[in-house]
Amino acid sequence: MKALARACALLASLLAAPVVQAGPIAVDVGHYLARPGATSARGIPEFEYNHGLAAVIAARLQADGESVRLIGHRGEMADLRERTREAEAGGARFFLSIHHDSVKEEALRPWTWQGQARHYAEGFTGFSLFVSRLNPHLDESIACASAIGARLRRAGLPVARHHGVSASGTLRPWADEDNGVYFYDNLVVLKTSTVPAVLLEAGVIVDRDEEQALATPERRALTADAVAAGLRACGVLDPSANPSAAGDSKPPGTGSP
Ligand SMILES: [Zn+2]
Repeated sequence: MKALARACALLASLLAAPVVQAGPIAVDVGHYLARPGATSARGIPEFEYNHGLAAVIAARLQADGESVRLIGHRGEMADLRERTREAEAGGARFFLSIHHDSVKEEALRPWTWQGQARHYAEGFTGFSLFVSRLNPHLDESIACASAIGARLRRAGLPVARHHGVSASGTLRPWADEDNGVYFYDNLVVLKTSTVPAVLLEAGVIVDRDEEQALATPERRALTADAVAAGLRACGVLDPSANPSAAGDSKPPGTGSP
């Protein structure tokens, strides 16, 4: 009977373990050279920020023994649908799109930086995450976005709340307000992904202070650590593969700090 109980306990633990699939993590560099996205307060194109952060995230995941497929890193990928097709062709098990945030045109103010006319905004900082209800793996997408957001908050970063409200009403409904996760159903890379997909806006590059912070190795490493720990917590990465990060796999607010 003892042997049977042990076998049952073993089976239960196996069933309870997160299912870790094979295949790389697709890390998508948002935008492309010809249309590089938002422009920072000091005139740097968003694509440069996305490229720099995606490289650090990819290196962090690879250091943990994970395989990574970078998408759009050469700056040539104009067709959004091509991004998820490439991820699928490469057998990716998760799709993470890297972006940096701006604000609505009417919130931008003019200033001059190094003799050039530029635009900045005040009062908008922090990260946000997006998931699509048209993605076939919505629950996993939300779980991973929430887990990444929880770790970014724990690292001291604020949630960017400006996507949620406007003078005319709600723009984007919350999927998880505490952890900075919005629904954005029609984002092409999220809705055409056949695997769980999350878009990360790592910070607001039209804020003059946050722009400079976002370019530092420290902020990029902090974000990459949150991504790796979040993907481990939501079961995309094997929680046993990196014992040094095992403590990060607990949900926030439970267990030891
Ligand atoms: Zn973008």
